Amino acid sequence: MDKNINTNTNYRSIPKVDVLLEDSEIQALIAEYDRNTVVEVIRDKTGELRSFIQNSTEEALIPEKVSALIPMIKAGVSQLYAYHMKPVVNGTGTILHTNLGRAPISIAHAEKIKEIVTSYSNLEYHLEKGVRGERYSHFEELVCRITGAEAAIAVNNNAAAVILILSTLTKGREVIVSRGELVEIGGKFRIPDVMEQSGSKLTEVGTTNKTHLEDYENAITEETSALLKVHTSNYKIVGFSESVPISDLAEMAEKYDLPLIEDLGSGVLIDLTKYGLSYEPTVQDSLKQGASIVCFSGDKLLGGPQAGIIVGKKEYIDQMKRNPLTRAIRIDKFTACALELVFQEYLNEKNAIKKIPTLEMINRPLEQLNRMAEQLVHTLQAAAEYAEISVEDCQSQLGGGSLPMERITSKAVVVVPFTMTAARLEKRLRKSARPIIVRVMGDKVHIDMRTLIKDDLAVVADEVTAVLKGEE
Ligand SMILES: *Cc1c(COP(=O)(O)O)cnc(C)c1O
Repeated sequence: MDKNINTNTNYRSIPKVDVLLEDSEIQALIAEYDRNTVVEVIRDKTGELRSFIQNSTEEALIPEKVSALIPMIKAGVSQLYAYHMKPVVNGTGTILHTNLGRAPISIAHAEKIKEIVTSYSNLEYHLEKGVRGERYSHFEELVCRITGAEAAIAVNNNAAAVILILSTLTKGREVIVSRGELVEIGGKFRIPDVMEQSGSKLTEVGTTNKTHLEDYENAITEETSALLKVHTSNYKIVGFSESVPISDLAEMAEKYDLPLIEDLGSGVLIDLTKYGLSYEPTVQDSLKQGASIVCFSGDKLLGGPQAGIIVGKKEYIDQMKRNPLTRAIRIDKFTACALELVFQEYLNEKNAIKKIPTLEMINRPLEQLNRMAEQLVHTLQAAAEYAEISVEDCQSQLGGGSLPMERITSKAVVVVPFTMTAARLEKRLRKSARPIIVRVMGDKVHIDMRTLIKDDLAVVADEVTAVLKGEE
């Protein structure tokens, strides 16, 4: 009985919506945002307060909650209007971090994209002839020049590219693929499922670890429409294993007059061994060795926008351009523009290595990484009494399912906080205004210098200092 009376009194202490709407701070909110939203948030927050009172065992807390109502409403409204996507600092050392948006675009490219997308453009307009043009035309010639392909097209992503290729060339018929290449690429994208989606019939040959040329040959029937090779870029079978090189497959495909399709996954256009990485088949090599069609991602090692790029024989690419499915998975003007920009950089390899952020990070020299680390440690001296801060060797990785075994030696700034756990520091950095994503190893927070770009170093210095000093 007592409890009820008190609860009713407490309920009455919640201001009514009309009263709240007269409040000057709420009036200011309405002026800045809009009335309906503010009213909705008031209802939500007063509702939350009511259920707090109902469930509360500590009456003493209630007046405090009631007086915090207006600040809660203000926070609720501004949160609704806040822009959700944010730039984050990638301190993980994983260059193509799928959760963090894979390949970053350079500032110069973003400026050009801005110029194009904020105007009308010749996206699908042939300016010389004054007739309808093709959105692929802006980069097709470039791609062909760089890769040696006869023709090219790009779609939404590489998963879509695989579906488009198969649905155009092999629908209703058999495609031969090695059991060792029936991979899951991530996010439930499995090659066998994709093949099924495209309406093709999968003929598996060989075993998980070994597939020979005659396995393919023995499987060829009247129903066979293509041979498919999938570059298993995200895992490696080591030891007793064998797969058939693309050049041998090409010979056989030619003999039986079948298209040879290669899904390369990561689109590498330069020889990475020059930059200290293992050999990763390039698009040029694949075509030279006889693949009729090659597809690859735009935002993996290519370092461009999300896209699936398909290159190869003109007769096949033309069929894909006519496939109605292409209309459903076509690239937009942002992507068309970004692709032209990124391919243009590849006309000159030295240029590409410097100007494409992904390649620049892969190739960033150890001395530079060390300088960055030393500089960061130096600025963090301001918080030296709150943590042990040092430079350590670390291993960056490519990520995004590219070269999974590959580690690139790098430098990390390692912070061991005295006043909080490493996990807490990680959380604080992740939740700061400009989120910083770091790796925690035991009691250490690792910040890899390789994946810091633009003004990240200064941001990290400020944030880490502030968090360690307990300023936020
Ligand atoms: C990553 C990958 C894909 C999917 O590419 P997205 O651009 O992410 O759609 C397809 N095939 C292979 C072999 C891959 O490595």
